[in-house]
Amino acid sequence: MTRDRVRLALVLPDLLGTYGDRGNVIVLAQRLKWRNIDSETVTVLSSSDAVPESCDLYLIGGGEDVAQVAAVRFLHRGPGLRRAVDRGCPVLGICGGFQVLGTSFVTGDGTRHAGLGLVDAATEPGNGRAIGEVTTRSTVGGVGTLTGFENHLGRTRLGRDSQPLGRVARGIGNGHDDAEGAVNGHVMCTYLHGPVLARNPKLADLLLEWAIGEPLEPVPDPPELRALRAERTRVHVRNRK
Ligand code: GLN
Repeated sequence: MTRDRVRLALVLPDLLGTYGDRGNVIVLAQRLKWRNIDSETVTVLSSSDAVPESCDLYLIGGGEDVAQVAAVRFLHRGPGLRRAVDRGCPVLGICGGFQVLGTSFVTGDGTRHAGLGLVDAATEPGNGRAIGEVTTRSTVGGVGTLTGFENHLGRTRLGRDSQPLGRVARGIGNGHDDAEGAVNGHVMCTYLHGPVLARNPKLADLLLEWAIGEPLEPVPDPPELRALRAERTRVHVRNRK
């Protein structure tokens, strides 16, 4: 990329983007602005031809099974996302977006769908929906504690090629081995909504550093953001049994 202008791709927000996942792109653009770096948001709708391969960072949100299946069909049609990943571009997949980026997922009706295989993660329905607040401890990129909100039926088992984004301290996450999310190179997946990058600014900056290819100047978080993070972390401590 050119450091003067970061191109953020919001992929299929008309299909995948529950619980304000679209807010993640606003957070990224704002964090760049605070560093005097311009950005452009490229919105890829399901009526578009394909995902462009020329963006610097890709975001895919969560959604219901039907929307998720339509999204994976669209994404299988073109090589744009895969080529961007091959160049080392970061991708953030949330919930349904996580499942789509994995190797396969089984929807609630029992149908198995081939995923894009960009993370080594296979999803099958669990015994009930995992709903509620989540806290994890992450060792990836120094991001530390992550908080978010989950609502999903799928349980995701990671294969050897991916590591968890975090270990679950509270909530369900992937539903196997205390793992939450997946990381494979610069492809990052999580079940956390929030929007997750509003709740976890260090995660936003890690993705931006991956996109830019160099460390970013730290920026002081505004009081609202600090208050949000403190409040969410307090809730998690209070609720911990
Ligand atoms: N449809 C998927 C599931 O229930 C993903 C849900 C979501 O993205 N919120 O597991």
